[in-house]
Amino acid sequence: MTPNPTTTPPSNGDGEALTQADEELLAAAREVLPRAVCTQSGFPVGAAVRTERGKVFAGVNVESASYGLTQCAERAAVAAAVAATGERKIEAVAVVTKTADPVAPCGACRQVLAEFGADMRVVMAGKEGEPWVTTMGVLLPHPFLLLPDEDPLS
Ligand SMILES: [Zn+2]
Repeated sequence: MTPNPTTTPPSNGDGEALTQADEELLAAAREVLPRAVCTQSGFPVGAAVRTERGKVFAGVNVESASYGLTQCAERAAVAAAVAATGERKIEAVAVVTKTADPVAPCGACRQVLAEFGADMRVVMAGKEGEPWVTTMGVLLPHPFLLLPDEDPLS
C-alpha cells in the first residue's frame, strides 16, 4: 500500500497569492522530484529553498532500508544550501509531491526549517489544483529556537 499523507490546506483562507518567485521555486522542486529515492514508501518529494541572498537549492527524499535513516527532501535542500553558501537564513521553501493536493512538511522538517526562518514562506503543490502558500509561522507557531546570542558552538 502506498502511503498517502494528507495535509488539507485550511479553508480559512490563510493561503497567500502565488508570486513569480514562488513559481520559480516550485519549478526547481519539480525538476528534482523524479530523482527521489523512495523505494520504501513510493512517495517522492521534491523541495527547493531560496536563501536570503537569492540562491536556490533543491533536495529530494532519500530513503533507507533502515527506515529511520530516511532524509526528507526539505532537510536535504537546507543542507545543500548551507553546504554551498554557509547562509543561515532561508526566505522560502517549495515542496512538490505527486499527490492531487499539496502536502505540508513533516514535523521534523518544520522544526529544522523554522530554525532557518521562523517567518519563512512555504509554497506547496501537488499535481492538480492550486498551490498552497503559507508561512512557517502558520505551520509551526511558537517554534523551539535557540537565542542568537546563545550559539552553542561559540
Ligand atoms: Zn520531513
